[in-house]
Amino acid sequence: MIELDGSTGEGGGQILRTSLTLSMITGQAFCIRNIRANREPPGLRRQHLSAVRAAAVVSNASLSDAAVGSTTLEFTPGRVTGGVYDFDIGTAGSTTLVLQTLIPALLFAEQPTAVTVTGGTHNPKAPPAEFLQRAYCRVLAAMGAEVEVDIERYGFYPAGGGMVSAAVWPCRQLQRINLLERGALRMAQAQVIAARLPAQVAQRQYATVRNLLGWDAEQMLEPLDPVTASPGNAILLSIDSEAVTEVFSAIGDRGVRAEAVARAAALEARRYLASGAAAGEHLGDQLMLPMALAGGGAYTLDHVSQHAITNAEVIAHFLPVTITFEQGERFNTCYVRARD
Ligand code: AMP
Repeated sequence: MIELDGSTGEGGGQILRTSLTLSMITGQAFCIRNIRANREPPGLRRQHLSAVRAAAVVSNASLSDAAVGSTTLEFTPGRVTGGVYDFDIGTAGSTTLVLQTLIPALLFAEQPTAVTVTGGTHNPKAPPAEFLQRAYCRVLAAMGAEVEVDIERYGFYPAGGGMVSAAVWPCRQLQRINLLERGALRMAQAQVIAARLPAQVAQRQYATVRNLLGWDAEQMLEPLDPVTASPGNAILLSIDSEAVTEVFSAIGDRGVRAEAVARAAALEARRYLASGAAAGEHLGDQLMLPMALAGGGAYTLDHVSQHAITNAEVIAHFLPVTITFEQGERFNTCYVRARD
């Protein structure tokens, strides 16, 4: 049984989710203690519990008692089986983080899968659904994996009620790729989602983006005002280059000015554009897992976060790879190499 300490490094939910994914794929059981020790409150929240339960269902796993607040878990996977699955987080917890736990494992099932997850679609500190669709799935596609993600309903905190679906086709072996250069810019666009909010929110956010990034009016898409259970605001900045697509985002919150939300996303995009790297910070902590499954690969990233360093350590517990980061002048390079 692989033993993990959830308080190491970043000390967040990613340690658990990466462990679930790789346990399902490799068939190795694991035990984790100090789950989310660096988060307040620590232990499993609904989103993590949903990821645990969903992983247990798709891989026919046996597991120790798990409830909201649990700080330890034992997980022994069975065989990953595709099919039709519907999971409901029951809160506005992130649907995309649950999906990201399942998708790589479902690639290795013998049958295709159609899965839906109900909860939040645009959450702080989580990938928005458009990030999975455009950024994450594009890299998987380049590695030979066919995954389609759709937003069925938008959902914001606190009511949630959003739904994201994923169709996953079996892929026996992910192909190795290198993503060292992003290539020429094909398109850059900003999209504001302002559900049940005054129209000026979007206008003020577009003005901030234009000011900070120097983008044209044509790059500002018509704001979306979807039907949702709670009001909500998100800004998405998509940067589509020849080899890779990045999506930078920020989520509005009560008491935070619309401009400040847009500014956070725009500054991340600006850092990425200036760096010349293929991946931004978030894609940068997520790409090493599929690359490790492919047996190797390399990519450039604008910033090596604590999430990235911690994820690299967790992956090396399950797969025979070594993941290292090399610092350059403008960007960093992540190397995923097979261990002898
Ligand atoms: P944790 O904080 O351990 O639960 O992990 C959160 C995960 O969500 C990490 O993989 C982050 O890179 C990812 N994430 C957080 N914010 C964003 C964002 N704005 N866009 C894409 N991914 C994100």
